[in-house]
Amino acid sequence: MLDYEYVGNLHVHSTYSDGTGDIADIVKAARKASVDFIGLNDHHTLGALKDGYEGWHDGVLLLVGMENNHNYHHYLSYGVTEEVPDNTENPQEVIDHVNGQGGIGFIAHPFEKGSRLVFGGHAYTWNNWAVKGFTGICVWNYSSQWRDGATSFLKALYQIYLNPHYAITGACPRALAKLDEIARERKVVAIGGTDAHAVNVKYGPFTACIFPYEFLFRTVNTHVLLAAPLSGDLNSDKIGIYGALRHGHCFVAFDYYFSANGFRFWAENGRELLNMGDETRFTTGWQLRAKLPGAGEISVIHNGQRIHSEKTAELTFAVRDPGVYRLEVRRRKGGKMIPWIYSNFIYFR
Ligand SMILES: [Zn+2]
Ligand SMILES: [Zn+2]
Repeated sequence: MLDYEYVGNLHVHSTYSDGTGDIADIVKAARKASVDFIGLNDHHTLGALKDGYEGWHDGVLLLVGMENNHNYHHYLSYGVTEEVPDNTENPQEVIDHVNGQGGIGFIAHPFEKGSRLVFGGHAYTWNNWAVKGFTGICVWNYSSQWRDGATSFLKALYQIYLNPHYAITGACPRALAKLDEIARERKVVAIGGTDAHAVNVKYGPFTACIFPYEFLFRTVNTHVLLAAPLSGDLNSDKIGIYGALRHGHCFVAFDYYFSANGFRFWAENGRELLNMGDETRFTTGWQLRAKLPGAGEISVIHNGQRIHSEKTAELTFAVRDPGVYRLEVRRRKGGKMIPWIYSNFIYFR
C-alpha cells in the first residue's frame, strides 16, 4: 500500500507569465492552504527553474514545469529542464519533445467552452485526438470551469461575490469520457488543476481578484500517494512525485468543504495488492476496495459505465469482468451532493 499522501496544486501561473503573484506569494498561499507542493506551469517559460526557485520553501515544494501553445492544444509538462518550443498546430511535436527530455505531460482544459466576457469568447480547446504519448489529461480545471459558467455579466458578478463554486460541477464529463476511452487501450492518468492566475479584473466600477492563490489552492487538488515519505531532498522528492503522477498513483479532489486526505482505492485478491495506476492480467478473485475519510456516495466506473453506486465510507466490490475501473465520489453538503473525489484507474487486462 502507498501510505504517504501529499496534496499538490497543479497548473499555477506566476509573474513569470500572466499570474499576478511572485514565487514568495505563491508559496505563502500554499502554506496557508496546507498544500504540500505546487506545480508551476507558466506559459512558454521555465524562468522560475532557471532562476533557482525550484525546491523546498518553508515546507512547500515548488516544482517548475511549463504550459505550451497558444490558441489551442495547451499542454502542461513537468520534469523538463530545457524550454519546450510551442507548436500549436502540431501538438505531437510538443508531446514528443517533453517525452524526449524524460518529462511527463498532461492535456489541459481540452473541452472548455469559454465565456464571451473573457478572451473574446475564445476557448483554448484540444482538437487533435490523434496524438499519442501524453501521460494524461487534466480532467478538472477550476478556473476554466468557473469561466465556462460566467455566461453573463450578472452571473459573473454572482460567481465573484456570492457563490464562487456556482459553476463548479465536478470533473469535465467529456474529459472523463475521453480518459475512459483511452484507458481501455493504454495507461492514462487523470490530474486536476486550478489554472491559478490571481488575475485582477475590472468591469466598470467593479474590480475583483479571480481568485486569490490561497482560495484556489483549497479547491481542486491532486493528491499523490508514495511508498516512502518525502525527504526534503529536491531530486529524490521530484522523482517520487513525478513517478506518482506518471503511474497514476494519485487522485483528484475538491478539498474546499471536506479534505479528501485519507482516501484510498486499491484492489486485492488475498495474495497481491494493486494501487491506483497498477495493471494486471484479469483473473477471478479480485476485489476493489476503497476507504473514505467520511461517508460519501461512491460510484464504480467500469470501461466508462457507472455499474455501482453506494453510500458508504468503505467499499468492497467484486471484479467480475476485465476492464478498467475507477471511482467517483460525491458527498452531501446541506441538501446538495457535491463532487468530491475522482480516482485513477486500476486496470484488469
Ligand atoms: Zn491553458
Ligand atoms: Zn494555464
